Amino acid sequence: MELFSCTKISDRVWQIEEDHGVFCTLVRGSELAALIDTGYGNRNLRAFVEAHVSTPYLVINSHGHPDHIGGNHWFDVVYARKDEWDVIEHFEEHEERTCELRDIQVGSSLSLGDVHLEVISLAGHTKGSIGLLLKEEKLLIAGDALNEELWLFNYGALSMRELYETLKETMQVDFSWYLCGHSSRKYPKEKIEAHIRNIENLKVDEGTKADTIGFETYRSSFEDGCGKSELVFTADRLL
Ligand SMILES: [Zn+2]
Repeated sequence: MELFSCTKISDRVWQIEEDHGVFCTLVRGSELAALIDTGYGNRNLRAFVEAHVSTPYLVINSHGHPDHIGGNHWFDVVYARKDEWDVIEHFEEHEERTCELRDIQVGSSLSLGDVHLEVISLAGHTKGSIGLLLKEEKLLIAGDALNEELWLFNYGALSMRELYETLKETMQVDFSWYLCGHSSRKYPKEKIEAHIRNIENLKVDEGTKADTIGFETYRSSFEDGCGKSELVFTADRLL
């Protein structure tokens, strides 16, 4: 029985649903594959990857939240940006880390043979969030950094101002589509503009105050022709 459901994005790219609404991305190049994120880790993701990949592969964390690093324990080596290592440590649920963490640097380019992944900073959702840009397909694999409902709170999250700067910089990067960690769909780059406009028109409305996983958060909603944006944040991120 197949334990993971998959959505084909292109001939090389698959969104793998590791848990309900939690996605990892698999990119298969001619000589090397890359698994981006490892979900909560309750099911054997390694067996799944090795059944579907005929080349060596790398495992990369987009950022350190528990629904993206939880399956690291299935693997021997995992790459993550050094700026994010303390976030990973903060959220690690397994008492003793069993995989080796290795640094992956912003600006580096990974050759998968016929295609390349370029590492870009998507700092905001967390301080060391990265995106992997599949250059040949103009596709940015963005983890949680560009989710339609973008969370900006908890350990490691940056300020709204820093998120805004990252979003503006991301619009300068050459890509057409992006993938998120909580959706099987690919989104057009223009949709990021909705987040930018949401921040430019940000209202802190007491009426939206809610408990989100134990944090007192506010919600700002915005929608226009570019798409929909929901920002969920704590007041301290506005300072
Ligand atoms: Zn996250």
